[in-house]
Amino acid sequence: MTCPEVRERLAEHALGVLSRPDAREVERHLEACPGCRKESAELLEGASVMAMSLPPAEVPAPLEDSILGRFRAQSGHAHPPTRIRLRVLRPGRWSRTSSWTPSTS
Ligand SMILES: [Zn+2]
Repeated sequence: MTCPEVRERLAEHALGVLSRPDAREVERHLEACPGCRKESAELLEGASVMAMSLPPAEVPAPLEDSILGRFRAQSGHAHPPTRIRLRVLRPGRWSRTSSWTPSTS
């Protein structure tokens, strides 16, 4: 793989969505190519910073209702099988805010 080919795939590599053979080729190239390795390190850093900097978010009830409404309309079911709770990544807050406990009854 050439440098341009590798760089084309670096974003996907950082996100972990490359196919196995491609990922292996990219990694092999990175071992031998300091330039692409630097580029890859920066991308990886950017990807994790981005993930951690997402603000916590609640889905507003009207939006949730409209999503569920569309689900009902398209599936033909009056009610979805279970109530769907939409959640957005809340880094580091699961353990403190979660009140979920396994049902023992
Ligand atoms: Zn290279």
